Amino acid sequence: TVAAAVSSPKSRVLIVGATGFIGQFVTEASVESGRPTYVLVRSVTTSTAGSPSKSKVIKELQDKGATILYGSISDKELMEKILREHEIDIVISAIGGEKILDQLPLVEAIKAVGTVKRFLPSEFGHDVVRADPVEPGLMMYNEKRKVRRLIEELGVPYTYICCNSIASWPYYDNHHPSQVLPPLDHFQIYGDGTVKAYFVAGSDIGKFTMRTVDDRRAENKSVHFRPSCNYYNINELASLWENKIGRTLPRIIVTENHLLAAAAENRIPQSIVASFTHDIFIRGCQINFTIDGPHDIEITDLYPDEPFRSLDDCFNDFALKLNHNSTLADPITSSLFNAATCA
Ligand code: NDP
Repeated sequence: TVAAAVSSPKSRVLIVGATGFIGQFVTEASVESGRPTYVLVRSVTTSTAGSPSKSKVIKELQDKGATILYGSISDKELMEKILREHEIDIVISAIGGEKILDQLPLVEAIKAVGTVKRFLPSEFGHDVVRADPVEPGLMMYNEKRKVRRLIEELGVPYTYICCNSIASWPYYDNHHPSQVLPPLDHFQIYGDGTVKAYFVAGSDIGKFTMRTVDDRRAENKSVHFRPSCNYYNINELASLWENKIGRTLPRIIVTENHLLAAAAENRIPQSIVASFTHDIFIRGCQINFTIDGPHDIEITDLYPDEPFRSLDDCFNDFALKLNHNSTLADPITSSLFNAATCA
């Protein structure tokens, strides 16, 4: 891009999982930061890359200035070749939850090449060493823990992004909650609705992730996202939404036992989301520890002058999307499957 061409030499970034939900935010922020940005896309035969929606995302990333490379991170030799040929400084993985272990050969390739200054594995949620969800969420955390162990054993410089929840209504039975707008029929309140969590706009996950990648203070650290303006419990979240839509909705209590039963059904991915919902809104996994370990840092301590998008603002956006779809006229409309991402 022009921005990249005129700026001083910047770190060269490779992003894997760039076409995914979180990966798109990170890739956009990388390109916007002016860093030369490469994205690895799997070939049409091994992935959804050939689908019309995926092709559109790839084209959009390309139009924004990213360079597309083809291959899979599970191919160690190919990854070594790509890292060397393009002189990659920073590798960011936003690989999906079901493919976490595909990152092991990538970590080995990074070690073999020896020139990568920072690796950000696919985390983008809770601190997987501290949080301890019930199964089947635990299985994903065990895989993320395994990737962390290999990174640390091999001495690959890392940053773990623990960005907590994405700004959205936290449905307990959806794979990607933020693709669904907040409810219009009733709220499901987990437990007594008083356990707090942090909600971060997708665009801020991208922007602040990119701030850390060559910040020495974030090297070999877990970076926790705890913006005070976005600290809400689910009762407060419901009131916020009622304010935006100008009416109240019935509240249905979803008990701890109900969430545990939904997790125990072991339907993938819904049961994984149920186990995380239980961990967040019943057990308080985002807030039941202090950030004081030698490898912990809070993002607002790193960048105190940079504001986060407020959840209030995100909910304004969601209400605008509703208006745009003229659905407010219909009082009992179920949630819209419509990119409800706060960007
Ligand atoms: P998605 O499922 O949306 O996307 C996964 C991406 O990984 C796709 O681009 C896919 O490409 C790519 N991919 C998968 N396997 C390979 C491979 N072997 N080589 C190259 N590319 C591959 O992922 P999410 O955005 O849902 O998840 C990313 C991370 O974010 C996860 O760690 C997840 O736990 C976390 N997350 C956090 C949330 C939060 O609220 N904090 C919400 C959602 C996710 P292809 O098109 O080829 O399949």
